[in-house]
Amino acid sequence: MLGLSFHSRRRQIPVLMFHGLCERIPDYALFEGGRTCHLPVTDFAAVIRWCCQNYDVIRLSDLDDLLARGGRGYRPLLLTFDDGLASAIDLGLPILRNYGVSAVMFVTTGITDAGRTPDIFYLEKVVYQCLPADVRVRFDGEEIQLKASSKEEVGPCFHRLWSWLVERRFPPLRVSLQDVSINGRPVIRGLVSEDRHFWFPASWNELKAAAREGILEIGSHMVSHRPLTWLSRSELIEEIEGSRRRLEQELEVAVQACAYPHGFVDEEVSRVAGVHYRWGFADSGGLLKKVSQRLSAPRIHVASEDWTVIKRLISPYGRAVTHLRFYGGTVKKRLLTMAGNTVGGAFRMDRGSGQTGEGEQSP
Ligand SMILES: [Zn+2]
Repeated sequence: MLGLSFHSRRRQIPVLMFHGLCERIPDYALFEGGRTCHLPVTDFAAVIRWCCQNYDVIRLSDLDDLLARGGRGYRPLLLTFDDGLASAIDLGLPILRNYGVSAVMFVTTGITDAGRTPDIFYLEKVVYQCLPADVRVRFDGEEIQLKASSKEEVGPCFHRLWSWLVERRFPPLRVSLQDVSINGRPVIRGLVSEDRHFWFPASWNELKAAAREGILEIGSHMVSHRPLTWLSRSELIEEIEGSRRRLEQELEVAVQACAYPHGFVDEEVSRVAGVHYRWGFADSGGLLKKVSQRLSAPRIHVASEDWTVIKRLISPYGRAVTHLRFYGGTVKKRLLTMAGNTVGGAFRMDRGSGQTGEGEQSP
């Protein structure tokens, strides 16, 4: 029975997706709308340990071969990070190093160039420290008013803001502090300190050192992090081609793969991506099964509250063993606590549909 399960999964490759890591989840990084992107480093260490015990962590360049030929006795799994965050470098790399494995880092070149936390995340920290807050955000001639009276209301407040932006096809990461007032006052940088482990980008030098060491392979997460399905053809080409050019220029590496911001991909996006990249990763969940999926390759978003479910999905030996072996200790306790705090299912919009639907939103 174990043998059957093992062999049937040989060519099904889990590709795990992480974002930021943290020593502990900051109070202002509240769990709303699927934005559970900050994995405590102790949980990350447990995930990587489990992966190394149960799988062979591979490099991007191994994918083609493994999908085409399988590989008897081999259980491939690929690790990826999105957004090029400093916390992944600071907290993640020592753990990868310890296990002798590597990951793919998808970098948003415009955010790395800016060298600071994108305004919409910085704003979250500001609001948290200005309670009670009457927040007004203007974008393209429209305005939304949000109120947060307590810490608990900050998360729902930002969930509403993200929903409002996405419904209007305003790219969330394009919100600027200049478009915002809190309690009638403008918001400026420096109002609160930036947190290097909260959506703060790694520097080009840090990425370059990690790429040279071989612990990170570098992929593109575009220039501006706008959802690609919303863009004109020329904008799409600039995002897809321009980001690769910038990465190759700064990091002196060949860039073979991209990850679509917010996971938004359609036929046109994957067609253009295929001109410049061998692989294009979405975040649709499920296992990578065949080469034909290479420009809409599924990934599994590892957010702290759903690791128990993921383990069951990807366990090479099936559910029973997963349950016996890995449930226990602080990770389980924290996961159970968090499950009650999570609001799942946000929104997804595809090109031309004009409809919102259920789906998970990931930055
Ligand atoms: Zn992203």
